[in-house]
Formats: sequence, C-alpha cells, structure tokens
Amino acid sequence: MTEPAPPSAREAGPKVQQPVRPGRLRSRLAVALVLVAVVPLLAGAVLLVWAAPAHARSAASGAAARDADAAAVALSTRCEAVRASARVAAGEVAALATRTGGELTPEAAQTLAARAAARRPGSAVAVFDADAALLAASGATAARDVAVGIGAQDLTTGPSCSAGRPYAAADGAGLAEISPVLISPFASTTEVEVATVVMWLPLDRPALSALRERLGTSGRLSVLAAAGRPVVLAGTGPESEKVTELLRELPAEGPAAGTRFGLGYRLTEAGPGLPYRILATGEVGGSGLRLLGWGLLALALVALFPLWLVLVRLTRPVDDELAAVGGELQAERLALADSLDRFGEVLAHTHDLTELLGTVSGTALSGTGAAAAAILLVAEEVEAPAQTPPGGRRAYDQTTRESDRLSVHAEAGRPDAHGEEARAVLPGFAERQFAALTGNPSSAQLFEPQRFELPGAGPVAAIGIGVDSQPVESPAERDPGRRRLIGVLVVARGEGGAGFDALQLTRLRALAAQTGTAITNIRRYLEVRRLSMTDTLTGLGNRAQLVSALSREIAAAGRGDGVLTVLMLDIDHFKLVNDTWGHGFGDVVLRDFAGRLLACVREADTVARYGGEEFVVLLRDTDVDGGCRVAERVLEAARSRPFEEAEVSQAVTVSIGVAAYPRDGRAADEVLQAADSALYAAKRDGRNRWRVAEPSHNAPIPSLPG
Ligand code: GH3
Ligand code: MG
Ligand code: MG
Repeated sequence: MTEPAPPSAREAGPKVQQPVRPGRLRSRLAVALVLVAVVPLLAGAVLLVWAAPAHARSAASGAAARDADAAAVALSTRCEAVRASARVAAGEVAALATRTGGELTPEAAQTLAARAAARRPGSAVAVFDADAALLAASGATAARDVAVGIGAQDLTTGPSCSAGRPYAAADGAGLAEISPVLISPFASTTEVEVATVVMWLPLDRPALSALRERLGTSGRLSVLAAAGRPVVLAGTGPESEKVTELLRELPAEGPAAGTRFGLGYRLTEAGPGLPYRILATGEVGGSGLRLLGWGLLALALVALFPLWLVLVRLTRPVDDELAAVGGELQAERLALADSLDRFGEVLAHTHDLTELLGTVSGTALSGTGAAAAAILLVAEEVEAPAQTPPGGRRAYDQTTRESDRLSVHAEAGRPDAHGEEARAVLPGFAERQFAALTGNPSSAQLFEPQRFELPGAGPVAAIGIGVDSQPVESPAERDPGRRRLIGVLVVARGEGGAGFDALQLTRLRALAAQTGTAITNIRRYLEVRRLSMTDTLTGLGNRAQLVSALSREIAAAGRGDGVLTVLMLDIDHFKLVNDTWGHGFGDVVLRDFAGRLLACVREADTVARYGGEEFVVLLRDTDVDGGCRVAERVLEAARSRPFEEAEVSQAVTVSIGVAAYPRDGRAADEVLQAADSALYAAKRDGRNRWRVAEPSHNAPIPSLPG
C-alpha cells in the first residue's frame, strides 16, 4: 500500500464540464489543416512572384559584369600579342636589311610580310620603306587595305593599339601596331630607320565569337567604338536587336550597368589605353519562376474549396470518435442518474439496512466506474434492547441482524477476474482502513476521500462514513467536527486500472455523506419501532410484537409442514399479590417471572407480555406434546422458589393454556383463542396447571371470575 494522497479541496471540487460539440471541433480542425496546407503554398507563390525576379535580375547583372571584366582582360592581352608580333616582323625585316646593307627589295619584303601575317590568323601586315613608300602588304584583302591605310596615315606618329587611338574602318574595328625597323650599319652604334612594319588585327565577328568562346562567357558580348557606335556584335536574332537598341540608349562616356529589355548589362572601359568600351549582357531569367508563382497562387485559391471538402471528410473519423465518446458519456450519465434515482428512492423509503447498502455500493460503482465496492459498518449500541432481561439474551428479534460488531457488504461491478479479485480483497482492506481511521479519530481526513494502491485491487479510494453525534434541527447547525465515524466506503478500480479522478472522488464524498444520513435515519426508525413493540417493564416484546411474530411464524410454518405451539400464561391471584404487597412488588414479580420464562425456552422462541399479568410464548417447530413439556417447566420455574424483594417473599403460581398450529386453527387469532380457552380451563381446574385446548374450544367462553 502506498502513502495515501488525499486530494486537495480544489482538486476534489466539482468541475464544470463544457459540453462536447463535435461539429464545431471538426470545423476548427479543418480550418487548421487548410491553413497548414495553404499558407506554405501562398508563401511559396509570393516568394516566386516577387523575390525570384529580383534575384534573377541581380544574377544577370552579375554575369554581365563578370563577362565584361573578362573581355577587357582578353582585349588587353590581345593588344600585347599584336605588339609582340609586329616587333618580331620588324626584327626579321631589320635582319634582312642588315644583310643587304640597307637595301630592301619588294619581293623580299613581301615574303617577310606574308610570313608575319600567316603567324597570326586574320591579321594583315604592310611594310613601308624609309621614304614611306609601300614595299609589301599581306593578309585578307579588307584587312590589308586597313593596314596600308594606317601606314599612309600614321607612320610618323608610330602609334600602337595601346596608344589610345581607335582605328575604325568602314567595316569594323581592330588592333594596330606600327613598329619601326632600325639597323646599325657598319658596326656603328647609331641606329638608322630603314623601314616600318604595320600590323592590323581586325576585331570582327568571328574574332569576337572566338573571344567569347575562349572566355566561356555566359551572355552576349559587344565591343563599342569610342564614338559610341557598335563596332562588332556577337550573336544574332531578336536578342541582337535588343542589344543594338540598348547600345543606342547608353551614354557616350563612362561606365554604366543595369537591366533593360530583359537583359542585365554592364558597359565598361576595355582597359588603360585601349580605345574601346565593352558591353556585356546577360539574360534575366526568373520569368518562368514568376509564372510558376502566379500559377501556385491561382492553384492555392482554386484548391481552397476542394481541399476544405477533403479535410472535412478526413476529420470525420475524429468526429465519429467524439460522437462515440459523447454517447458513452451520455450512457454513463444516464446510468449514474438512474442509480442516483434508485438511491434517492431507497433513501426515502427503505428501512432495510441491507437494501440500503446494496444500493449504496451500486451507486458507488456507477458513480466512479469502479470494479468493486465494499461498505463496512459498526453495529450500533442502540440496536440492543432497551433493557436486557435477566439471562442476558435479547428478546426482541428486529435488530439481531447486525449481531456482529463489524459487518461488511461487498459487491463487484465488473464480472471479470479483476472485479472478482478486487471484491475478494476489499473487505480486509476496509477493516484495516477503518482501524486506521478510528486510531486517529480527530483526523481531518476522516470524511475526505483518500487514494491508495492495493495489490489485487489496483487503485483504491476510501472515505469514512459518519453520522452526526447530536441530532441537529437544521443543516446550518451541522458541525463536521461532531461527526462520529460508523464505517468506511471503499471502491477499487481493479488491477491495472486508472486512478480515480477528482470528479469521481467528489461523487464518492457526497455518497458517503448521504449514506451516513440514511443509516442514521434507518437506525432511528428501527429504534422507534423497537420501542413501540417493547414492553418497558419487562423488556419483552409487547402484544403488537407478539401478533406480528405469530403471523410471521405461522406464515413460515404454512410454507412447509411446520408446526408451532402457543402457550398463554396468566399469573394466579395476581390481584391478591398487588393488594397484599403493593403495586411495586407486583412489578418485581412481573419482571422476575419474565426472566424465569425466558430461561425455559430456546433462543429461537418468542416470549411476549400479552398484557397485565398475561404472557405468551411462541414455540417454533414444536408440537403440542413439546409445548406441554415446556409448560411443565414454566410451572416448575414459577413455584420452585418464591418471588422476593427486600423483606417480602411471596410464592406465586401460574396457569397455562396450550394450543398449536395447525391443530387448533390456521390463523393467528384462532390459535390464540384456543390457547386462551385452554388457559381458562386450567384456571377452572384449580390453577397452577396447564391444559391443552379442546377440540370444542370454539364454544362461548364464560368470563373469568374476579
Ligand atoms: P386469576 O387467578 O383469576 O387470574 O386472578 P387474578 O387476580 O390474577 O385476576 P385479575 O385479572 O382479576 O387480576 C389481574 C391484576 O393484575 C389486576 C391488575 O391490578 C394487575 N395488574 C395488571 N397489570 C399490572 C402491572 O403492570 N403491574 C402490577 N403490579 N399489577 C398489574
Ligand atoms: Mg389476568
Ligand atoms: Mg391472573
């Protein structure tokens, strides 16, 4: 057994139960699920519609910037390469001129120009003599014309591709290098210019495409002349038109970047000294994503209704389950109401303690859902007769039901093994718990439910049953401290069951309180009834009790072949006793005689004072002969010794009439009448004797003398 865990007042207080409304709960559940499904969809759509394009724009601009920077580096590198090629060609021409003493023939110059142009595909080379006359030219026709043109124009300035001057030809731009041919004749240190080499590498479309491929650039690439005119475009189709349009819009000077026509662009200088600007573009992606975003948004809105329907359908099992739980609760409530009804009924009408205990345990079972219940009660002192006659036996039979001090009523609510086992162990536990409570009668927990864990019974709840020590006029006068413990009420859940909750404990407390009141009421009723059927002088049952007992005994005997004998007794000359010794002594005789009478019969027999100095004895399962033997014993008991008090001593005799069921009648009054007639016969025959009823007992009875 574990330490009891008494519930606090708050815990045990009644709970206000909200009614279960499955429909509303289902709607809430569906709304929650719709939100869970639709909100992420909406968030995704918004992200795609707004955030993705911005990201795509910045990605396109970034790509364009990277392409432009890479192209600038590539152009600078090309420029250096053209310069180096021109210098190599000039060196070869110088070597030839040194061998020939400064003389250069057009044929020899043509050979060298062709070799130099061949070393760099796409380029053209022109050689001029010291007087700026053209000696030779090689390369593709257009390029060769440009190279010759540069020579005619600029030989004196000696520009290079990095000198900052553009060489824009009618059909494109390129990189140019003018390299003087210097020799030192006759081993002198003075150098003499004997010729000039001009090299031209056009930046045409194939050249730019190659550049783009080599760079691995992602977008389109354009190179702008300083004049702001597009010189070369790589790429064709509608995108080229966009680039052309863009070129027209861009500023003539300085760098620029941005997004236009669905293109991210970057305009930048080709490099220090290079007379070109580079425009790189990257296509802005994300329009597909944006479309997807709008699609998702539309989908979310369109799906809302069917989704709602599906979710409402999906939550139906929850709904059904709730309805089932609601049904169970309703059934439980009805069962509880029913048992409370019965409890109220029994409370109001029964005077049978056993019936009350059966109803209380039934109500405890249905009110707490327990598997077993037990009630232990202590027998009340008031249930003993008001006056125990000499011999110490109870003459009155109504309260002997609780002859033991403790009685335990146990019931199983569940007919399974757990319920049976719990019922088996509960009475023992109830006794221990009662002993524990009586050991501490001032404990505040006497009438509060306490919880335990009991092997074989599982979770157990126990509460004391109390009655008010003093009867009170109104509930306001009730003092809980004055309640007296008269028993315990115990319920068990059964092995493995759940513990009792606060609501169940509250019910148990209310039930225990009502049970205490009901027991008090029953005991008061029994006491009043007992008093109304008891003769206060002798403590024997009175005439009413005799009639009731005789009817009951005759009914019991009538169910079988039972017999029953009645003795009717009358003290002889009792009037004389009173007259001689006084009424008080007469009472002493009556009490003493009652005691002697009881000593002559068995426990199962009934002795009553019929009135005055007349007594009746009911002898159960006894025929007339047996009755006569008892009558003889009674005569002997009366005359064996005198009746005494103080100085007074008086011999008294008694006369007895004997009649039997069914011999002398089948109804109680018939048998009594027969016994009375026999008594009269005994008186008539001289008293101090018994007589058996004659078959003619029905004859009119003369009144007794005196
Ligand atoms: P018999 O032998 O014919 O029966 O004579 P009896 O004197 O006994 O008969 P009777 O019926 O005339 O007398 C009964 C007396 O019992 C009368 C009454 O005063 C007395 N008596 C009745 N009840 C009580 C009682 O409770 N106490 C006392 N002391 N006397 C009682
Ligand atoms: Mg009498
Ligand atoms: Mg008498």
